[in-house]
Amino acid sequence: MKNKGKKFIVGVTLCVVGIIGLFGLFAETESRAALLAGSVVLIVAGIVLVFLDKKYPSKPKAESGSAEDAKTYVFITENGKKYHVDPDCPGIGNAKRVPLSKAKKQGYTPCSKCQYSYMNNFGIK
Ligand SMILES: [Zn+2]
Repeated sequence: MKNKGKKFIVGVTLCVVGIIGLFGLFAETESRAALLAGSVVLIVAGIVLVFLDKKYPSKPKAESGSAEDAKTYVFITENGKKYHVDPDCPGIGNAKRVPLSKAKKQGYTPCSKCQYSYMNNFGIK
């Protein structure tokens, strides 16, 4: 469960509640249609949440570097050894967007051309 985020837990809970709701269908109630619709909606919502969690984990596994690094995205190129904070940096070419922590981990160093404007934008001194 370590890699699972909040969405996954909520999604599974919704599925379970929906399935329990389906069991209610065996009972003789007048609101069977509503019960069925409610249960199906819960299960579908749960599956969607679980799917979303797989695709966009709400809690990415902490890599080396600060939390700020993990939140900050930079651009790297296959051949270069610099990471760029400015997507419009000259000569960036086919850049890939990665978390700053990952770029640092892979040995990329900041590009001096666009680092200055980045620092200005974010008020970092
Ligand atoms: Zn640059």
